[in-house]
Amino acid sequence: MSINDYKGVLVFVEQRFNEIQNVSLELLGKGRKIADELGVDVTAVVPGSDISRHAQLLIEYGADKVMLYDNKALELYTTEPYTQVVVKAITEEKPEVVLFGATSIGRDLAPRVSARLQTGLTADCTSLDISEDRLLMMTRPAFGGNIMATIVSPEHRPQMSTVRPGVMTKMEREPGRKGEVVNAKVALEKNNQFVEVVSFEKEVGTKMDIQEATVLVSGGRGIGSADGFEILDGLAKELNGLVSASRAAVDIGWMPHDRQVGQTGKTVRPNLYIACGISGAIQHVAGMEESDLIIAINKDKDAPIFEIADLGIVGEVQKVLPLVIEEIKKI
Ligand code: FAD
Repeated sequence: MSINDYKGVLVFVEQRFNEIQNVSLELLGKGRKIADELGVDVTAVVPGSDISRHAQLLIEYGADKVMLYDNKALELYTTEPYTQVVVKAITEEKPEVVLFGATSIGRDLAPRVSARLQTGLTADCTSLDISEDRLLMMTRPAFGGNIMATIVSPEHRPQMSTVRPGVMTKMEREPGRKGEVVNAKVALEKNNQFVEVVSFEKEVGTKMDIQEATVLVSGGRGIGSADGFEILDGLAKELNGLVSASRAAVDIGWMPHDRQVGQTGKTVRPNLYIACGISGAIQHVAGMEESDLIIAINKDKDAPIFEIADLGIVGEVQKVLPLVIEEIKKI
């Protein structure tokens, strides 16, 4: 079989507790653009249980065909059954491009699928483009984020990549968009890697995700201490937002790792990002530069963060923030 026999874009659609994850809609949006450029279709592959209600939503976000693998054994993610499903879908559909979210699920699943199919995988892509000779150009940071590497796979199909949440944009939903829905069947083989989930205990307490926040008040080394973050928390509460941090602040232990923004943290795209005492290193900026409005507060007028900020305040965070909070309270 030749590589020219592979046609189309396939997106692995991730559901958790039967809710479609945003990253999958973002990938459908990107997959749609790639497919339009190549003149091919987008197929969404959805493993899960009781999932038929999602089909139309996926079509409205860009899929031409939705393959539902509805099976009780696929209700929660486990490696082997999901690998079998995705390998089967790819073997039957023969897409030239396959996209996964770089989530804990996608990062576990995609390498296994690529190994079974004997094809390559480019992880954590930040951009995907099509070259003149129809190759997928997969760009990702390399050498500690100091250069961007563009990787192509001229000899293997499919061309596979994972993309971090928040990097791509969803297409505008098209209500009533038409597409094909297939109730796909797969006979799961219970080999020695097959794990059955006996029960799932959800962690008690409400863990908030900075990727879902519309406002982020983010602190760096300039905050000076863990206690110094209280004032950021005060501003975040006033704005119905969350507190995030740079890696320097996380590494010192002032904030937990799940609040870290950047190349080795999370990619965020809030409506408002307030960077407080953050220098604006390339690895930090990579995770927040797509925010709609960026405000930076830094005592150094030459700090690189001011190059990407829409609004900048030169001053000590500890003096500026109380004044900002006071003004907001008046509104
Ligand atoms: P600093 O660079 O120390 O900057 C502190 C800033 O605060 C300075 O600009 C200073 O002028 C200002 N300041 C000091 N006191 C005050 C004050 N009182 N009021 C106002 N301003 C003040 N970094 C990330 O953030 N996220 C990542 O995911 C990430 N991944 C990385 C991956 C790799 C492979 C590598 C090599 C690095 C990574 N980094 C990451 C680290 C990154 O290079 C920077 O070291 C880090 O972002 C610096 O954090 P910072 O801006 O808080 O600290």
